[in-house]
Amino acid sequence: MQPSSVKRNLRILVSNDDGITAPGIHALARELRSIGEVTVVAPDKQQSAVGHAITMNYPIRAIPFFAEGEFFGYAVEGTPADAVKLGVRFLLKDGRPDLVVSGINHGSNTAINIIYSGTVSAATEGTILGIPSMAVSLTTYGEADFSYAARLAARLARLVAEKGLPPGRLLNVNVPAIPEADIRGIRLTRQGSSTWDDTFDVRLDPANREYYWLKGRLNVTDIDPEADQIAVQEGYVSVTPIHYDLTDRGLLSEMETWGVDRLR
Ligand code: MN
Repeated sequence: MQPSSVKRNLRILVSNDDGITAPGIHALARELRSIGEVTVVAPDKQQSAVGHAITMNYPIRAIPFFAEGEFFGYAVEGTPADAVKLGVRFLLKDGRPDLVVSGINHGSNTAINIIYSGTVSAATEGTILGIPSMAVSLTTYGEADFSYAARLAARLARLVAEKGLPPGRLLNVNVPAIPEADIRGIRLTRQGSSTWDDTFDVRLDPANREYYWLKGRLNVTDIDPEADQIAVQEGYVSVTPIHYDLTDRGLLSEMETWGVDRLR
């Protein structure tokens, strides 16, 4: 049944951070076409972990990208946030999209990874522009089958279109990379806590100068089943409502007693 709030075809902007050639965005766009009109605007190359960077000192080009002989979308020489901004503000000539869906990322975006994630930032940019948005990630860096995650993303996108999201809020979705039959359910979660075990490989270039290659490992310190990463580890799809207002209101009121104003 067509919900009354969805009067016409849903217009969906799809982006990602793995680049327009990544299998995850093709699986996602294919499924979302079953619920609406999809326009893909995505970085032309790998942009993972660029966070919410935008391009201000270089030109941004958008090149039509074809897959199997058919127009697939616009490959943007820029970041995920650039792609969504350009898509909403300029490329979607028929008007604003009803939804922005980012992904499907190859790799999890839970706990502290949310802050580094280009996948989440593409969705965040949609939210900044006032459009209900969600980010979807599949939690493996190995071999990936995006089909279940893509079907789930379409069902959730439909629900988000019906329900809407409050201003400044978006959904961060992580799908365990296990067979569909082993998925135990969908759990509403909060962002988990974690640290990164950062190490740098020290290598030598042909001129014998040292260079460094970051090798990180996410170290989840949470044990709470409501934490995003724990839900995923327990075989649940994790759905976390997040926002980008970084103000800590608790510390703000505590600092009223510090006498900061007397420092002037
Ligand atoms: Mn990525």
